Amino acid sequence: MKIAFIGLGNMGGGMAANLVRAGHAVNAFDLSRDALSRAQDNGCATFSSVRDAVAGVDAVVSMLPNGKIVARVFADDVLGHAPQGAILLDCSTIDVGTARQVTADAVAAGYDMVDAPVSGGIAAANAGTLTFMVGGTGTAFARAEPILSCMGKAVIHAGASGAGQAAKICNNMLLGASMIATCETFAMAEKLGLDLQTFYDISSKASGQNWSMTSYCPVPGVGPTTPADNEYQGGFATALMLKDLKLAMEAAQSVNADVPMGERAAELYAQFDKAGNGGLDFSAIIQSLKDQA
Ligand code: NAD
Repeated sequence: MKIAFIGLGNMGGGMAANLVRAGHAVNAFDLSRDALSRAQDNGCATFSSVRDAVAGVDAVVSMLPNGKIVARVFADDVLGHAPQGAILLDCSTIDVGTARQVTADAVAAGYDMVDAPVSGGIAAANAGTLTFMVGGTGTAFARAEPILSCMGKAVIHAGASGAGQAAKICNNMLLGASMIATCETFAMAEKLGLDLQTFYDISSKASGQNWSMTSYCPVPGVGPTTPADNEYQGGFATALMLKDLKLAMEAAQSVNADVPMGERAAELYAQFDKAGNGGLDFSAIIQSLKDQA
């Protein structure tokens, strides 16, 4: 297939490279020259506008920073410029309302479109092991699935348009809250004089077990190797966790959902980000919980 890829940053760069590896011809566009030159090194053809990149393609994939940018790129330069039969896939993390609106506009213009945000960070994007949660009609999902499979290990149909974004922010709200609960627990265990490796051995086999503890332990030297073992560099940045929690709070308000733990997680990550820690992995919040204690 010929696929246009818009937004080849930390995530999109690796994803586009995996489409090339799978045998697709990839037309790349990004506002950043550096991103475009890396895309070229990875075998993409590069273009100087979205409109040029989407001309004559079978599919358009986007991986952009936020909903405003996604809405503008699709309204101004994709709809009416990509061929009518093309399938459109937005893999960015954006708010549910914008995702639904962009898809409704695409459908009105004669396209199939899915929202297909991802779980997994830069390493998973490079390795082609992302998990995609997809919102859209059955027909749109069936068309999107083979393309997404080239970039991920799991592609799950979450439901109608917007359901991919809804699943993503629900998952990340749970992750933010569970990471904080794990961090405050280890900080308290230390104060109570427990050896942290011993506590890990107990809790990871007891009812406190959770992903933030056993796959992403925030304590250096305990559990598997994680960003905590690399001074909280790499991994999933605090600023991105905060972005997702803000989207979750917006979504909660829009349906009148009571989310006290999500709300508290959003407050704590906002404070941690404001203190200059936005670039650190989100598990670094254990440092502020220790300090406050
Ligand atoms: P990034 O900032 O590294 O990449 C975004 C790219 O989009 C940049 O290269 C930028 O130049 C480009 N861009 C911005 N406006 C553009 C426009 N109008 N036209 C073309 N290109 C444009 O961000 P990222 O980390 O790759 O994240 C991308 C998306 O993936 C975000 O929505 C983010 O929330 C989501 N996400 C990121 C991670 C992660 O770990 N980084 C994990 C899951 C989901």
